[in-house]
Amino acid sequence: MTVLPDRYREVSVTDVDVPLQVEPLLGLLRSRPVYRRTRFVVARHGGRAALVEVRTRPGPGLFWDVTQASLLAGPDDVAWVVRPELDPGVPSDLARAAADVPGARCVVLEGRYGHVSFVLDSAPLHLRVLDTAPPYPAKLLDQVERVLATADDLPGVLPVPQIVELGDLVPPGASGDFLLPCRGGGMQVPGTTVHYLDEVPPRRAWTLLGCARSEAIHEALYGGPVTQVDTCPRALARGIELADGEVLLTKCCLLEEHVEVDDRTVVVPWGASFGHLREALERAAELST
Ligand SMILES: [Zn+2]
Repeated sequence: MTVLPDRYREVSVTDVDVPLQVEPLLGLLRSRPVYRRTRFVVARHGGRAALVEVRTRPGPGLFWDVTQASLLAGPDDVAWVVRPELDPGVPSDLARAAADVPGARCVVLEGRYGHVSFVLDSAPLHLRVLDTAPPYPAKLLDQVERVLATADDLPGVLPVPQIVELGDLVPPGASGDFLLPCRGGGMQVPGTTVHYLDEVPPRRAWTLLGCARSEAIHEALYGGPVTQVDTCPRALARGIELADGEVLLTKCCLLEEHVEVDDRTVVVPWGASFGHLREALERAAELST
């Protein structure tokens, strides 16, 4: 089970002049009081570190006696990682730091603001984020990362990008006329003539490269059926096999104001707000427990 502090003020970092072994280290830490908020001590000696959990006896002052100390991770299990761009107060940032040191049971992160925290036995939710590109960066994935960067009250989530290039959905050897929803993403289809639905060009025998909503708009503007390559990420998600414990997050052109959960898939509206994404991440975290 993953262990991490509720707040990094529960973590105390201290240099010790004894070896990082059970008897000398725990003996030392039991012999001196700690600040009343301290629950974990990261002890450093000789360029290495160990993680100790302490129990204290509440008293009237700011420093309390240690009644118990136990070694959670010895120096062979601890990696000290310096990543100023990661916030040690955010579980997903701790998960990212830990994912880059797969051999270490305990990762101590010295990150943003110079703060230090740790994660032991990191087991974040692996969240597949299925998005289409262009635009670059893929918008849904970028939004997820921006929300996670401040989600200090959510469990650790590690996004696993699954970006589908819209150009790869064009049938091989395609030629002729293609119709895209808009110019927005800057997509090109080499060897073809591209038109944009939102410019309402004169009708041709084109192939619509778009979602169900674009198809409905086409129907409203031009009437009659159109050959379509469906680019809705929700539709693309149906072909994805999830590994054990994974949850998938994607978006759908047909959703406007709400988040849907479909088995282990969370779907947000195409133009999802950060509020939608926050809700989606909460739902994904619930699915993983
Ligand atoms: Zn859709």
